[in-house]
This record gives sequence, structure tokens and C-alpha cells, in this order.
Amino acid sequence: MAQKANPIELEVAVVNGVELNGHWNRIFEPRVISEYDLSVLDEVTAIPGAESLAYCYQCGKCTSVCPVDVVGDYSPRKVFRRTQLGISLFESEDLWLCTTCSDCLRVCPKEVNMISIMPAVREKAVMDGNAPQELLSAFENTARYGNPLGEPARKRADWVKSAGVPVPIMNQHKAPVDVLWFVECYPAYHPRGKEASVALARILHALGVDFGILGNEEKCSGDSQRMAGEAGLFEMLAEDNIKSLSKYAFNTLMVTDPHAFNAFRHEYPKYGGEWPTLHYTQFLAPRLEAMSLTVPIDRRVTFHDPCYLGRHNGEYEAPRALLKAIPGLELVEMGRCRENSYCCGGGGGGMWMDSFTSERLTMRLSERRVKEAVEYGADILAVTCPYEVSRFEDAVKSTGNAGKLKVLDIAELLAHSMGLVTANI
Ligand code: SF4
Ligand code: SF4
Repeated sequence: MAQKANPIELEVAVVNGVELNGHWNRIFEPRVISEYDLSVLDEVTAIPGAESLAYCYQCGKCTSVCPVDVVGDYSPRKVFRRTQLGISLFESEDLWLCTTCSDCLRVCPKEVNMISIMPAVREKAVMDGNAPQELLSAFENTARYGNPLGEPARKRADWVKSAGVPVPIMNQHKAPVDVLWFVECYPAYHPRGKEASVALARILHALGVDFGILGNEEKCSGDSQRMAGEAGLFEMLAEDNIKSLSKYAFNTLMVTDPHAFNAFRHEYPKYGGEWPTLHYTQFLAPRLEAMSLTVPIDRRVTFHDPCYLGRHNGEYEAPRALLKAIPGLELVEMGRCRENSYCCGGGGGGMWMDSFTSERLTMRLSERRVKEAVEYGADILAVTCPYEVSRFEDAVKSTGNAGKLKVLDIAELLAHSMGLVTANI
């Protein structure tokens, strides 16, 4: 039992000749405001990768930037507090609301890292069979077909038939290429994703780029499945893709999808797959002079920074350089842009949990973002992540903004201005 300190109280203390009220010198007993049973928090922070949840000191900076809290009641501060109060994160719906957008980590003074906490805790929940059914279906589709949409693997390259230009497939091409284009799932299968792929193929062809794709040998990069808690599936996909890519000679790996970009830059090297990797906007921006942008697009356009191209990988300029080069196009920035950009809700597995999350939020994140674009007077919301076209187009309809706002991939806008496609502007 610690001995109590005797309070020493002087009426007046004189310090360096200055008289001070003696109360400053009172020695109090140490105060304990409340005591918690921290066993539930300890259970979370004992998981490798989830340790930093314990660092939270409740400053609330994360709550002011978390895109989920804007439309709901969720942020790292709240996760910490609820866990501290004994609510198990393994069983809480909080576990599935984070989109791993990384905005909280940008502002957190204690580096509470949800990008590491969420996949680690989710992995345990997934192993215990305790995850939203729609997410488990996306995992199952990815494991079975190599894509979360559940489309046949053999149809992965079917979109090239509508490209109207040669799109060499590496196992038929049988020659090295300068650029290997990793297309990814939504650009290969989703109707709107395919339109952006056709536009990009035509741009590459017009620029005389020597390129090829993996076709049926390509599988989902798996980055979002990893963030959603399926590390084992991610490893399997990474190994398969690395094996396929390693068969071919190329100088640059160009990716359409910022999530794949993230995987190739930060994760695949851990499994032995390391290539100079560029997002397609980074590949095209230095080639602007060679692009004949002649058809004007007289529209007010705003750009949505994808979390995994911007905050996660620091690229904000290349997409803007491309948009600014289009004649007639007026680029307007939304208040939440660049490192402070809002999130479309698709990251961290959110792409496959729309029913789960929409039941728990006042509106989808994509709907909040579309409203913001309309508030800034945009005619077109320009995107450069394959998740976004479908998410935002649905949100345009559900928020009653059909006819007011169009959603177009930057590749579509460029190809339109080059006279290679007729985009619905
Ligand atoms: S910003 Fe960091 S320390 Fe502050 S409340 Fe959020 S998680 Fe906790
Ligand atoms: S990563 Fe994004 S969605 Fe997740 S808690 Fe942080 S700010 Fe919120």
C-alpha cells in the first residue's frame, strides 16, 4: 500500500522575490478518474499488426476526417473507446465499416494504424467465420474464378474483341513487350470498366506503345481481399500472378487499378515479384505531347482522388495533368481533394459490403461524394479507379442526380478528346 503524501500547503510562497498564492504548491494524491477492465482491448492489441490501437489517447482528430463518421457513427477514436468499454471488436459491426482509406493515419498524432489493425483483426474474424456473407461470397468467387465478380476466368480477355485495335495477349504474342498492362478484374469484366479498357487500349495503340496483357493468365491482384481479412487468399493470388508475369520479358508494368498498384508496389516484392510499376495516369502524363487532344470537352469536371493512388501512394499530379490538357475542360477541385480526399467506400472490401454498410449508415460514401461533386457544380466526375465508375454511377441514380452528373474514367475523357471513342459526356 503506497503511503499517502502529506499535503504541504503554504498561505503564500515567495519564489525569486515574487509572492505566489500557496495553492500552487499543494501536493495532491494521485487521482484515478476511472478504472477499466482492459482485457477486451488487450485481446485485440495482442494480435500482430493491431498493437497500435492501444496508443489512442482519444484526441478525436481521426473522427473529424473519417469518411465513415460523416455518414455514420464510426471512427478509430470510437473503436478504441468502445473496445476500452468491453465491446469486442471481433463481434462488432465496426470491424467491417473501415474502408482503409488512410485519412485517420494521416492526422493521428499517435500513429494508430487502421491500415494494419483492420486486416489483422478481420483475419481472425474471417477464420472464425464471423464476417458479412456478401464479403465471404466475394472471397469465394475470387478463390474459385480469380475475380470477385464470379465471372469465368476464360472470359477475362473477351473485352479485347471490342477494342478495335490489336491488344496482344502474351501467351500468343510470344515476344517481349515494352509495357505489360495488368488490366485487373473490373476493367476486364464490368461493362463500364470494359469501356474504359477499350479507351485505354486505343490510346496506347495511337501512341505506338509496344504493349501486351496477360489475358486468362491474370488473376485479381487481391489487395482489397487482403485488407478485408483474407491474407491467405491474397498470398495465393500474389504467387499465381508473379508466376505468370515472370514468364514474360517486359520493361514496365502498367496497372489500371490503384489497388493493384498498391499491391505491386508494396506487397508483391515481399513474395519475389518486383517490377517498375506505374499507374496508367503516370504512364500517360509524360506522353501528353504525343497525344493529339483535339476534340474539346466543354464541361466543368471535378476529380475524385482514389485513396490508393493518392493517400496510399502519393500520386496527385498525373491525373490532374491529363485532365488539364484536354481542351475546353474546366477542372474544379472539391474541398475534400488530394490528401484530404473523401473515400468512395469501395476500399478495404467495402466494394463487396454495400448492403451491410448501407444498413448501418445514413447514406453510402459514394452517395455523399456524388452530392459533393454536384454541390461544386460539376458536370462530370472524373475517376481513375475501376471501383469508382460503377459505385458513383449507382450513386448518381440513387441520389436523383441522373442527367446532372456524368461519371467518366480519365481514359475515356482522353480517348474522346483524341477522337478515338465517343464518350457519353
Ligand atoms: S487521432 Fe489517433 S490518438 Fe487521436 S483519437 Fe484518433 S486514433 Fe486516437
Ligand atoms: S482508414 Fe479511413 S475509413 Fe478507416 S477509420 Fe481511418 S479514416 Fe475511417
